[in-house]
Amino acid sequence: MRKPKIGIAANIEIVEGGVMPGLYRSYVNQDYIVSLEKAGCIPFLLPPGDGTEDVREQLECMDGVLLSGGYDIDPALYGEQPRPGLGFVMAEVDRFYMEVIRAADEMGKPVLGICKGIQALNVAFGGTLYQDMESQKPGVFMHMQKAPRYNPSHEITVEPDSFIGSILPQRIMVNSFHHQGIREAAEEFRVTASAADGIPECIEKKSGTFMCGVQWHPEMMAAFGNGQMLEIFRRFGELCRDGRPEK
Ligand code: MN
Repeated sequence: MRKPKIGIAANIEIVEGGVMPGLYRSYVNQDYIVSLEKAGCIPFLLPPGDGTEDVREQLECMDGVLLSGGYDIDPALYGEQPRPGLGFVMAEVDRFYMEVIRAADEMGKPVLGICKGIQALNVAFGGTLYQDMESQKPGVFMHMQKAPRYNPSHEITVEPDSFIGSILPQRIMVNSFHHQGIREAAEEFRVTASAADGIPECIEKKSGTFMCGVQWHPEMMAAFGNGQMLEIFRRFGELCRDGRPEK
């Protein structure tokens, strides 16, 4: 059977030190590549270019899109001034993500957003974020774990009648590397998994183009042999190739 082609929206790394300090480098973490390959998909990198007018042409060649993790999202995109806890933001990457999401939606290309990816999906459709959960939401768990990236650190509760619920059990441990989080989910999305402190960990678009975002990093667990997390990529690839199963 034909392998689904998945375009991974890449990020820009600013190289520190070395012989070319300040060099901009387009990249994705290798765990995304490894997970997609293990899941029977063919990964492609979509670089954040200067202009965004070619994004549709890029997506034309793809069956689906994976939004990878990265820097914080510019709060201006959801109408807020920056708060003290905000981390590094890069407007050109955010612009690229927004353009990819808009084009994918119009073209009916399924999207899986991971970490920054779930946040970008939410913001693109009018939702808001905590710029820094710890300083804005009392009692929040530690979502920036101090353990290896493939180790789960907090539990989530999953809605069974959802895409993610058709893959994962109702309670499962996930890893966590985010200090921002979804505050108000966009109207077009349903929260389909949450941590017990109330932070949404998965959102899914209610209708139209398939879009699902997860706040944890399943690729970091799948790349290290976690079969349940790998299944997310396998099922996403299947959906990109064959279309959404009838309800
Ligand atoms: Mn978390």
